[in-house]
Amino acid sequence: MGLFGGRKTVFVDADILVIGGGMAGCGATYESRYWGRDLKIVCVEKANIERSGAVAQGLYAINCYMGMQWGENQPEDHVRYARNDLMGLVREDLGYDIARHVDATVHKFEEWGLPIMRDPKTGRYQREGKWQIMIHGESYKPIVAEAARKAATEIYNRIMVTHLLMDQSKVNRVAGAVGFNVRTGDFYVFRAKAVIVGAGGASHIFKPRAVGEGMGRTWYAPWSSASAYALPIQVGAKMTQMENRIVLTRFKDGYGPVGAYFLHLKTYTQNGYGEEYESKWYNHTKELVGDYIDRHPVPTCLRNHAFIEETKAGRGPIRMVTKEAFQDPHKETVGWENFLGMTIGQAVVWASQNIDPKHINPELTTSEPYVMGSHATCSGAWASGPEDCAPAEYQWGYNRMMTVDGLFGAGDTIGGTAHKFSSGSFAEGRIAAKAAVKYVKDLGKAQPQVGEQEYRDLEKVIFQPLENYRVGRNEIVAGTVSPSYLLPMHGLQRLEKIMDEYVGGISANYVTNSMLLDRGLELLAMLKEDMNHMGAEDLHQLQRTWELHHRLLASESVTHHTLFRKETRWPGYYYRGDHMKLDDQNWHCFTLSRYDRNTGKWEMQKAPVYHIID
Ligand SMILES: Cc1cc2nc3c(=O)[nH]c(=O)nc-3n(C[C@H](O)[C@H](O)[C@H](O)COP(=O)(O)OP(=O)(O)OC[C@H]3O[C@@H](n4cnc5c(N)ncnc54)[C@H](O)[C@@H]3O)c2cc1C
Repeated sequence: MGLFGGRKTVFVDADILVIGGGMAGCGATYESRYWGRDLKIVCVEKANIERSGAVAQGLYAINCYMGMQWGENQPEDHVRYARNDLMGLVREDLGYDIARHVDATVHKFEEWGLPIMRDPKTGRYQREGKWQIMIHGESYKPIVAEAARKAATEIYNRIMVTHLLMDQSKVNRVAGAVGFNVRTGDFYVFRAKAVIVGAGGASHIFKPRAVGEGMGRTWYAPWSSASAYALPIQVGAKMTQMENRIVLTRFKDGYGPVGAYFLHLKTYTQNGYGEEYESKWYNHTKELVGDYIDRHPVPTCLRNHAFIEETKAGRGPIRMVTKEAFQDPHKETVGWENFLGMTIGQAVVWASQNIDPKHINPELTTSEPYVMGSHATCSGAWASGPEDCAPAEYQWGYNRMMTVDGLFGAGDTIGGTAHKFSSGSFAEGRIAAKAAVKYVKDLGKAQPQVGEQEYRDLEKVIFQPLENYRVGRNEIVAGTVSPSYLLPMHGLQRLEKIMDEYVGGISANYVTNSMLLDRGLELLAMLKEDMNHMGAEDLHQLQRTWELHHRLLASESVTHHTLFRKETRWPGYYYRGDHMKLDDQNWHCFTLSRYDRNTGKWEMQKAPVYHIID
C-alpha cells in the first residue's frame, strides 16, 4: 500500500464535536445532549473514555464541592480561596460560575452510583478539608464515562486529534478537526459547527525526576500531552497565564498525594533534623511577596518555597510525620486506602523500599513543573465569561468561547480558573456545552465550510513521519540512530532538557532569567525546525510524534509567557532570578499571548484583573 494512496479517510459530521473524553469532555458531552436533544453530538478521544485522562486510575476525593445545601460554603468563598492561592490573579467571573454550579454536578455523580463517604454523625458528605469530600473513587471515571456514552450520538475512541480545521467562508471561525486512528491508521476528518476542547494539561514538557526506564513515573499522567493548549494555539486562540506552571509537593518516587494526609490524618512535615522549618522562612518570604505570606491558608506555591529553600540550605530530606497518626488504626486504614483508590504505585514504592509509615516517616519531594488549568494553577485559553457576571472586557461572545468563533473549552483547557479539579472540570464542560448548543442554534444557515485542500494538506503532514522512517531507516548507523530522522523519544528528551535547564525546571531549582529564556527560545526554535524530520516506526510512534508537536508548542508558549512577566509572582512554582520579587504595581494582571502560525511569531499583552468579589 502506498503511503497516502490506500489510506482510508473517514468523514464524520457533527453539530458539536467534543475533543477529549476526560472529566471536562464527558461533562460537555452529557450537557450537549440535554440542551441539544436533536443535535449530533460527537466525542473523540485518543484513548478510551472508560479509563482516560487524569482521573483514569480513580480518585479518593472530590476536591471542589461547596456544600451549599448545608450552608458549608458559598461560591463567593471559593473565589476568595482560589484568588488567595493564586496570589491575587484569577478570572473571578469564571471561577464563580463553576462554584455556583459544581454542587449539582457532584449530586449527579452520586445519583449515577459514585459512593461518596458520609459523616455518620451529621449525615453530610465526609469532608477531607474545607473544599474536599471523600469518595470511594476507584470507578469514578467509568461512572462518568457511562453518562457521556449514553448522551453522545457517537464516541470515537483511539483517535488522536492533531489539528483543528478552520472555516473557509468566515475568518477566525472553527469548522472541525482532523486526526488519525492510533490502531488502524485511518485518517479522520470531523466537520463540526462548534468544537469543545477538553484535552487535558501537559506533563513531560520539563525533564522529570525519574528518567530512563522510570520516566513514566511522574505525578501528572504521562499521556497528558498538551493538546488542550496546542490545538487552540495553532489556530490563533489567545492563551493566558501559561507561565503559571505547577510544582507539587508529593511523596517521593511514587508521587502519592498529600492532601488526605495533611487534612484528614493531620500529619505534618519536618526537615532532616526533625525540626519544623516553614516558619524559619517567614521573613525571607515576606521580603519577596509582602503580605501574601500572611494569608490563610498560606498559598500553595509559598509552602513549596519553604520546602525548596530548606532543602537548598542542606537540611533535607523533608519528611511527612506519619508515625504518630498511623498508631490510630482508622487513620492507618485511610492512609493506605488513599493510595489504593488513586495512586497504587505509591503503596508499591513504599513496599519496595521497606517503608512502613507506621514506623518510618516517608520522604517528600517537589515535582518537576507541569502545565494545567484545573488544579492549583490556571494556565489555559482566554475565554469569554458568563453574561450575568463577567466584566465587559471579558465578554466577546458565548460563555467559555475562546477568541476563535465556535471554539469552546473546559477543564485544563481554560485559563484563569484554578481549583476546579475533577468536579469543577465536569461542571465547566457542562457550562461550555450549554453555550455551544446556543451558538449552534444561533448559527442558522450560516454554517462553517471545511476546505478539502486544508485537510488533504494536513493529511500529508500528519503521516509524513511514517514515510521519513520507511526511507531513512536504510541509513541507520548504529542502534536506532539515523542521520535522516529524529525519533519521538529523542525529540522529547531534547525538549525536556531545554525546558529544564532554561525555563526553570528541577535541575535549575526552578530558577530562570531573561538570558536563559532567550536562549531557551532559540533552542526550541531549532527543535521545531527538526520536527520536519521526525521518523515514526509505527502508529504508536506516530502518536508520540504528534504528542511531541503539541508539547513543543505549549512549551514555546510557557517560555514566552515566563519571559514576558517580569516578576516572581509564585515563588515555589518558579523564580525569575532577574526579578525575584512580586511586583503588584506592574504585574497585577493576566498575561496573554497569540501565536501566528503563518509567521511563527508570538504577540504578548497584559489584560486587567477585575475583582468582582469583595
Ligand atoms: C495526579 C492528579 C491527581 C488529582 N487528584 C484529584 C483529586 O484527588 N480530586 C479531584 O477532584 N481532582 C483531582 N485531580 C484533578 C482532575 O483530575 C482534573 O482536574 C481533571 O481531570 C481535568 O479534566 P480535563 O477533562 O481537563 O482533563 P482530563 O480528565 O485529563 O481529560 C483529558 C482527556 O483528553 C484526552 N486527549 C488528550 N489529548 C487528546 C487528543 N489530542 N486527541 C483526543 N483526545 C485527547 C485524554 O486522553 C483525556 O481523556 C488530579 C489531577 C492529577 C493530574
